[in-house]
Amino acid sequence: MGISGKTALVTGSTSGIGLGIATELATAGANIVLNGFGEASAVEQVRSDLARQHNVGVAYSNADISKPAQIAEMIALADKEFGGVDILVNNAGIQHVAPIEEFPVDKWDAIIAINLSGAFHTTRLAVPGMKRKRWGRVVNIASAHALVASPFKSAYVAAKHGIAGLTKTVALEVAEHGITVNAICPGYVLTPLVEKQIPDTAKARGISEEAVVRDVLLAAQPTKRFVAVDEVAVLAKFLCSDQAASITGTVLPIDGGWTAH
Ligand code: NAD
Repeated sequence: MGISGKTALVTGSTSGIGLGIATELATAGANIVLNGFGEASAVEQVRSDLARQHNVGVAYSNADISKPAQIAEMIALADKEFGGVDILVNNAGIQHVAPIEEFPVDKWDAIIAINLSGAFHTTRLAVPGMKRKRWGRVVNIASAHALVASPFKSAYVAAKHGIAGLTKTVALEVAEHGITVNAICPGYVLTPLVEKQIPDTAKARGISEEAVVRDVLLAAQPTKRFVAVDEVAVLAKFLCSDQAASITGTVLPIDGGWTAH
């Protein structure tokens, strides 16, 4: 058993936390299905580097996680290439920062579709194969915003609180099948997703970008440092191990103390 020889599908793994998790699981010997957007040659470079460096199979699906039909094609690709998905990491996500009365309706719809409904579709399609093998791991990359709120992030906070509920519900349904379902709740990690929201947050709050990093982002974290991608990736890997078989239905903060406030 263990992670070696298993197949891990990581949504949104062309960048940031997802790429870190895919790399960590490849290091542990899992075949990988990469997913996410990016320039074709850059994605192919990541795919071939991962395969060569870790001697595992690596496939890529460009499925848009807001489109259920494309998610079904991605799961079919994993079945065809590797005989199914053993480890599902729901990581793809986007952010938009705006006051509720100005929040663009299309951004609300996109955030709910990608950050919440996408995980419903991947999970409902991957669980039957996990049940047949009597082994499976679902790791949902939620956020500290699955536990607490911040102003101007209504869609993101709603989606992430929703992921916490989905995690607990599915964990109960599959607990007797050797499948665990958990959510990881990172605090701020300096990835493109966070870098892009700094100017918008500065505008929404009427402060400078430096003040956003100091007084908004890192002010939330008692450690006063960003969470590192590899810290999240190693936690995800542990949840996929056999030693984590009794950890299920949890919503686990890795947030430098943010939600202890
Ligand atoms: P990122 O922007 O670096 O990466 C996001 C990934 O998702 C990319 O690979 C992108 O191509 C992909 N993606 C976006 N929309 C997609 C779509 N429609 N279909 C398929 N793929 C899509 O962001 P990140 O910071 O690494 O975020 C990853 C996850 O971690 C998100 O769910 C985010 O909410 C969560 N998270 C991030 C932080 C943080 O501080 N960075 C904190 C807590 C939680």
